Amino acid sequence: MNYEWQMPRDPFADDPNDPASFLDEDEQAPPLSEDERALLSQELDLVRRFRTVLTPHGINGIFFYCDDCDEQHFYDWDIMEGNMLATLAGELAPVHEPSAQPNPNAYVPWDYCLGYLDGLNAQLR
Ligand SMILES: [Zn+2]
Repeated sequence: MNYEWQMPRDPFADDPNDPASFLDEDEQAPPLSEDERALLSQELDLVRRFRTVLTPHGINGIFFYCDDCDEQHFYDWDIMEGNMLATLAGELAPVHEPSAQPNPNAYVPWDYCLGYLDGLNAQLR
């Protein structure tokens, strides 16, 4: 049975400015603050430099210990780059979607990458 005909007509049904239309969008990430955006842009830049210098050494990405999942997460450079670009674009990034079957030897901690980059820069000085 369909009782829809008994319902009062939506007063905004033909209104393109229907206020409800703004509430039904796909789930949005909370907007980034200026500081968060600046930090994320910086990290995105770092990820791209890590990828350039570490991929030739067989490093595919980083891993870190996730308190939420209680396990290590492994992220390829491209996945991290994609997540960061998505976050910068205001989309929700799949933070807990690690690579399938990662080879743990091909991933290093973020701090290792920072240190590696520092070491390279020191050699260039
Ligand atoms: Zn997690």
